[in-house]
Amino acid sequence: MPSTAHPEQIFRPEILQLSAYHVPPATGMIKLDAMENPYPLPLALREEIAGLMIQAPVNRYPDASATSLKSSLRQALAIPDGMDILLGNGSDEIIQIIAMAAAKPGAVLMSVEPAFVMFRMIATFTGIRYVGVPLKKDFSLDLELMLSAITKHQPAVIFLAYPNNPTGNLFDPEAIKRIISATPGIVVVDEAYQAFADTSFIDELSKYPNLLLMRTLSKSGLAGLRLGLLIGRPEWLEQLEKLRLPYNIGIMTQLIAEKVLQHTAILSEQAEAIKSERAKMNAFFATMKSIETYPSKANFILFRVNKASQIFQALKQRRILIKNLDGTHPLLENCLRVTVGTPEENAQFCTALQSILSEIA
Ligand SMILES: *Cc1c(COP(=O)(O)O)cnc(C)c1O
Repeated sequence: MPSTAHPEQIFRPEILQLSAYHVPPATGMIKLDAMENPYPLPLALREEIAGLMIQAPVNRYPDASATSLKSSLRQALAIPDGMDILLGNGSDEIIQIIAMAAAKPGAVLMSVEPAFVMFRMIATFTGIRYVGVPLKKDFSLDLELMLSAITKHQPAVIFLAYPNNPTGNLFDPEAIKRIISATPGIVVVDEAYQAFADTSFIDELSKYPNLLLMRTLSKSGLAGLRLGLLIGRPEWLEQLEKLRLPYNIGIMTQLIAEKVLQHTAILSEQAEAIKSERAKMNAFFATMKSIETYPSKANFILFRVNKASQIFQALKQRRILIKNLDGTHPLLENCLRVTVGTPEENAQFCTALQSILSEIA
């Protein structure tokens, strides 16, 4: 007899209610929506990578523990002695591993709002209850509110992005430390934008037994590879390792990442170029009376206008794609987020924005 099963009967209601993470088509667009590094790797390095690819034994499973890549990462990122590394297919996968591990009945995953949307989405995927604590109007941490939410909900895990996405700011490190000390669970400081921030919690790992640090290569120039890492004490990472699918980091990713990590100077030069372009864009925004910007330590800038959706659409018509955050959270009303691109891309964006603003004024 043919099955009459429908997704509605089989899948969890919270999954049926989700809308999938939307990635807009970007072919032929100036792509300033996803915090990618706009610069390709130098040709000589790409040729070296091509040589590695010719020899890669793709008929074999990759090294399940990625030993060689991990030791390159340890060196390149100066991971403190005594701390372990867990690798993820992007740091998104690491968020998922942590949420799965913590999802006891009634357990809470906490973050701030607005924050990286995957914290909340992955909580739903994994069946852990999500609590989002609003930031203040200037997007700083509301420490009193955080501390009372911690007392009330006793979260198993708190995710804090440092700098925060989509707002770009760094939270007060002293406030984060208060949160780490006050919470009964673990705190994951997500440093996806560390390359642009000039600061890190990495030296705090040894001081706080419940602190874990997450990094990714995505925003530094290797978004297409999908490699994220979690740094922390062996007692936490040993347990999380059990949930990591054995071959989550493919052979191409292992080989390419390791090769690029032999040339970290290239990535840091690109990060420096992005930081100086960020300063130029801030200077441009400062000349625009109808725009309010928020200080950013990341490779993107959040700004507020009068008619965000109209401006977003007008930019799109000029084949410039940024991110429209209007309607995603009350604090983000009329907010847009632009990723810092190449000097040419940024100039085109600024010119387009200027003329759009004068047209609709
Ligand atoms: C982009 C981003 C990530 C995800 O990075 P991947 O490693 O590409 O999965 C994680 N956290 C924050 C805050 C981000 O903005």
